[in-house]
Amino acid sequence: MNFRQKLSQFMYGRNGIDVLGVFLLVVSVVLMTLSTLFSRISVLSELFLALEWMVLLLCVFRIFSRNTVKRQQENAKYYQHHRKFLLWCRSVRDRWTQRKDYKFFRCPSCHALLRVPRGKGVLELTCRKCGNRFKRRT
Ligand SMILES: [Zn+2]
Repeated sequence: MNFRQKLSQFMYGRNGIDVLGVFLLVVSVVLMTLSTLFSRISVLSELFLALEWMVLLLCVFRIFSRNTVKRQQENAKYYQHHRKFLLWCRSVRDRWTQRKDYKFFRCPSCHALLRVPRGKGVLELTCRKCGNRFKRRT
C-alpha cells in the first residue's frame, strides 16, 4: 500500500478541506503576516501569533473531524455569508465600471439600489421594490 492509499484510508469518513477551511487558512496566513509586521511591538505580535495558532488548530480540527454533519452545517452557514460578500463585491465592481453612464441612488425608504442614466436632469424616481417616489438630480 503506497502513501496515497494510506492517506486516503486515513481520511475516509473525515471532513477534509472545505470553503470554510480555506477561509480559516487565509485568515491564519493574514494573522501570521500581521504578527511579522508588528514584530517590534511584542504584545501585538504575540496576540496575532496566538490568534493564528487558534485559527490554525480550528482548521486542522475541522479537516480531521469525523462529525461531518456538524462540519457541513458550519460550512453551509459560512457559505451563506461568503456568497453575500461575493454579491456585494460584484455590486461594487458593477457600480464602478458603469459610473460614467449611470448614477446610483439608494431608496430613502427601503434602501434598495436604483440605477439611473446620467445627464437627464432632475428626475422623479420610483423604487421598484417598494414604489416610493423621490426626486434626484442625475
Ligand atoms: Zn424602496
